[in-house]
Amino acid sequence: MAPVQKTSRRDFIRNASLGIGALALSPALAQLAAAKPAKKLGIALVGLGYYSGGQLAPALQQTKNCYLAGIVTGTPAKAADWAKKYNIPEKNIYNYQNFDEIAKNPDIDIVYVVLPVSMHKEYTIRAAQAGKHVICEKPMALNAEDCKAMIAACKKANRLLSIGYRLHFEPHTIELMRLGQKQVYGKVKSIDTGNGFTYGGDPNAWRLKKALAGGGGLMDMGIYSIQGSRYTLGQEPIAVKATQEKTKPELFKEVDETVFWELQFPGRQKVTGKSSYNHDWSYLKAEAEKGNFELGPAFGYGGIDGKVNGTPMQFPQITQQAAQMDDFALCVIQNKQSRVPGEEGLKDMLVVDAIYRSLDSGKWEKIG
Ligand code: NAD
Repeated sequence: MAPVQKTSRRDFIRNASLGIGALALSPALAQLAAAKPAKKLGIALVGLGYYSGGQLAPALQQTKNCYLAGIVTGTPAKAADWAKKYNIPEKNIYNYQNFDEIAKNPDIDIVYVVLPVSMHKEYTIRAAQAGKHVICEKPMALNAEDCKAMIAACKKANRLLSIGYRLHFEPHTIELMRLGQKQVYGKVKSIDTGNGFTYGGDPNAWRLKKALAGGGGLMDMGIYSIQGSRYTLGQEPIAVKATQEKTKPELFKEVDETVFWELQFPGRQKVTGKSSYNHDWSYLKAEAEKGNFELGPAFGYGGIDGKVNGTPMQFPQITQQAAQMDDFALCVIQNKQSRVPGEEGLKDMLVVDAIYRSLDSGKWEKIG
């Protein structure tokens, strides 16, 4: 934990008057005190690629409960650039070989794993064993078995684990969850959702290699649609049937291009979804007994929009990643489970695993 650069004397007096640090705080006071931490927690980003550089590091300039304290990278030139740009001291810069020494660094409270999917398990477990709390990017791991190992390792090390599910902090999405889960327009009868983009990147990128990515559009984009169905209904699916389409086999040699699925939920709602590396989709539409609601775009970093019975939602755009990381820092301070814990990543991966089984078998497959 590092001191906030600008902790004012007034804050100090206020904190002191709240009895922060006293042994017996009332729960209400403790919550109030923790909601305004006197110190910001230090986050180290592991993997300085597109998402770390384009989204997380800028978001960490806006966060109130945490800050960009360290980096882990295999590229010395990147380390130098980042150190200069974000004022990161040499002692807080690690590479993949000396990463475990982070255990001795009190500036780093949270390790954020932003690596190719195949590396999520190893770095989450190593971070927890180094005594750090962990945020791991989506999809949580290559498969559900790995997710279970990650959850177990964090539990054993008594560290909190959260998945980078930024949309749980996004106002339109929170409203969608409320409308669906609280049955504001009666029971949801059907959901249709899709997420995808037209891949135009490097044909040799890790995203197109099965061993590194675990799969294609389903792992990367479909995870949002799967989760969208789960958080709209507030229920867990029990079975799935899936089909796929491949129009660019030369590009998607190892991974899925476009996948379509139908999920069976305990309430027997009709729930269809799709993911793609070859179509630009980002929507979720729900039909309830007495109304309908939808998001579109539903899953991006910004520009989320929605309608309820045809009327546009009126919510602000926020920096989702800043809200997500601030919330996790507060969870660490208050020692409470994140609203998007490892178990949430596991639930999505159980569905993904079953979708891949269904693509192989051509049949309905049980989830879990
Ligand atoms: P990227 O390829 O841009 O960055 C990956 C980083 O990992 C690079 O800095 C690369 O140097 C490093 N790396 C270390 N070892 C590597 C290896 N063996 N092979 C390849 N790269 C290696 O990827 P990204 O788009 O930043 O994605 C990283 C993670 O973040 C993925 O899990 C991805 O799904 C996730 N992500 C999440 C969101 C979101 O909205 N939550 C958005 C984008 C990416």
